[in-house]
Amino acid sequence: MDKLAIVVPCYNEEEVLKLAADALRQVLDMLIEKKKIASDSFILFVNDGSKDRTWELIEEEHSRYPVQVCGVKLAGNVGHQFALTAGLITAMDISDVTISIDADLQDDVAVIEEMIDKFHAGSDIVYGVRRERKTDTFFKRTTAQAFYKLMGLMGVKTVYNHADFRLMSKRAVKEFSKYKETNLFLRGMMPLIGYQTDSVYYDRKERAAGESKYPLKKMLALAFNGISSFSVKPISFILGMGLFIIFISLLALVYALFSYFTGHVVPGWTSLILSIWFLGGLQLLAIGMVGQYIGKVYIEVKQRPRYNIEKILQHETDATVNVSEAEDRED
Ligand code: UDP
Ligand code: MG
Repeated sequence: MDKLAIVVPCYNEEEVLKLAADALRQVLDMLIEKKKIASDSFILFVNDGSKDRTWELIEEEHSRYPVQVCGVKLAGNVGHQFALTAGLITAMDISDVTISIDADLQDDVAVIEEMIDKFHAGSDIVYGVRRERKTDTFFKRTTAQAFYKLMGLMGVKTVYNHADFRLMSKRAVKEFSKYKETNLFLRGMMPLIGYQTDSVYYDRKERAAGESKYPLKKMLALAFNGISSFSVKPISFILGMGLFIIFISLLALVYALFSYFTGHVVPGWTSLILSIWFLGGLQLLAIGMVGQYIGKVYIEVKQRPRYNIEKILQHETDATVNVSEAEDRED
């Protein structure tokens, strides 16, 4: 039977920690009873350098339920995306399947069972997708939706209205762990892994207690990170602008010469206006060109795996091996 790890990043969550632990333990108990997961499945709280009593509470829960509640303590606050990554990679070695969820119980724990069912039906990644955003403020809702649209325009594949509530099989996490980049935008990376995915739908609730740990500043940082770590389109845009303005400068040339020969211009205007347009366009073009190279360097420097071989059909065995696993053994 598969051992489930529920990974929960926590930053200053003393108000909800116990609630979350209780709610998630109930889900574990229910799934164990239905024989859908192994009896030693557990919750893994990741303390992201909290300044309040979060870690003490995790320790308390662990001493009360040593099997079901585990914890990882990070040395300092590294932010949600890194805390979650730390939790997933820790869980990878000690479980068969992980589910990540926020500590504030905004995501509906009731769909966890459905996620597990879809995992058993063969999906390696199951996205939790919000049906509506009724409980979000108007501001959060519209900015978030604009963000998903912009990401789409920039050529970044994301699952609409999916945050970081998701199931991942052990091999999906293993594959993900090979993405060594430091600019993390998890929900943009998951579609790159390429295994079979599925979605479950739920209504997002209000925070169970406490306040949002994602102020506008962090949200904007996440959004910018999402675009800049997945797309060099902004650079291409500059290149396009440069070409466009050079084209305009040709039109300006025709216009300026026409004005010059029809005689009603101040001396010096023609050469000035032409220089401004042409040089402006040339500069943008040059910046855009340099940008193209920087963009390439940037993509290379990431050293992302270029593919993920899911299965190899061999003569003797139909082994579901990852080639990388074999590589790992060699070194
Ligand atoms: N979180 C974290 N580190 C941070 C900020 C947030 O681990 O620096 C966690 C937080 O404890 C919560 C999750 O990330 O479990 C999502 O944060 P929150 O619910 O405050 O964001 P919102 O739902 O308001 O976008
Ligand atoms: Mg929240």
